[in-house]
Amino acid sequence: MNLPIYMDGHATTRVDPRVLAAMLPFFDEHYGNAASRHHRFGWDARDAVADARAAVAGLIGATARELVFTSGATESNNLALKGVADASRDRGNHVVTVQTEHRAVLDPCARLEQQGAEVSYLPVRSDGLLDPLELAAVITSKTVLVTVMMANNEIGVLQPVADLANVAQLRGVPFHTDAAQAAGKVPIDVSADGIDLLSLTAHKLYGPKGVGALFVRRGSRVTPIMDGGGHESGLRSGTLNVPAIVGFGRAAMLCTDEMVAEGTRLSRLRDRLWTGLQRSLSGVTVNGSMTARLPQSLNISVSGVNGEQLLLGLDEVAVSSGAACTSVHQEPSHVLRALGLGDAAVRASIRFGLGRFNTEAEVDYVVQKLSSLVTRLRNPVPVFELGDDDGNLPSGWCAESDGEID
Ligand SMILES: *Cc1c(COP(=O)(O)O)cnc(C)c1O
Repeated sequence: MNLPIYMDGHATTRVDPRVLAAMLPFFDEHYGNAASRHHRFGWDARDAVADARAAVAGLIGATARELVFTSGATESNNLALKGVADASRDRGNHVVTVQTEHRAVLDPCARLEQQGAEVSYLPVRSDGLLDPLELAAVITSKTVLVTVMMANNEIGVLQPVADLANVAQLRGVPFHTDAAQAAGKVPIDVSADGIDLLSLTAHKLYGPKGVGALFVRRGSRVTPIMDGGGHESGLRSGTLNVPAIVGFGRAAMLCTDEMVAEGTRLSRLRDRLWTGLQRSLSGVTVNGSMTARLPQSLNISVSGVNGEQLLLGLDEVAVSSGAACTSVHQEPSHVLRALGLGDAAVRASIRFGLGRFNTEAEVDYVVQKLSSLVTRLRNPVPVFELGDDDGNLPSGWCAESDGEID
């Protein structure tokens, strides 16, 4: 077993070696521009992009023509929200979303509000799920888009998107979902689920960073947010990042092939982690529904301790916390607060994102390491390794942390 152990799979995932191998020739051998029509370099790149597009589309039950490559889920969300809002100005200016969305949805919503749109931020139940009846109650004749994430990036819960999309569809409103966390982990079928727009990113499913896609159902009205050479059917101009797209395609293909087996393996590992922690520690609770949940995801609160202390103490284990200092925004998790957790429980939260490369031995190590750390933190012995006699952390350490909880 090698240290440090990576269990922060919601933030990003390691590029699968098979993905890297597929990408490499597209840096030095097949380096053509996929838009070059008059030579083999261009054709090779174009064909590779076409294969990748088919593979990514296959992962979500879409057709290749309905897929627009972007730089990631942030851009896909921006294109979906701003693009649909702009194209629907003649119909209305009301957008519906949920309080627990990723900032890559909440911030575009805030921008739309600045520009005069009205946005409803629906609350969730204490298990993190949105009740479809809540959605039905806020849709008006002015509603132009409903956007609800498929899987939450902090607590891993799976929203009932098929039911929610159905509610939107009955009212003739397009339904968008940010599937950055769900894609490649659980089956998605945009047709069966009634989804009109869906955001993806490669780096959450063992592909490279900086490439993603937006599924746009044929017939949807979307205004581009980037103008230029008219690439991607005019919806997203800019020379395609061919090596990254090839990697995305390979990563999607691997997920399609291995999702079922991997989900079974990871949910067992996740349950082993949860059972192990419950057995060795009192006062641990799960945040979010334990049933409507990604197989590899666990978010807990550990009473009587602070998530920041946990992260510091677990120096050989990479995990995240909903505590303030781990976020760019320097404020405690808006997701955990939306579940109704108090400040202490938010601060005491810790997020595990298991993945393809985690092993049983690593889970057992983490259980043992975390339990002994928590026991030490709850029963402080006179020597406190970090901070002063009162247990205060060194001032200024927070400023060094970076990265959104994403
Ligand atoms: C990671 C993540 C994003 C941002 O994706 P990028 O590709 O990094 O821009 C958006 N939404 C969710 C739910 C995410 O987990």
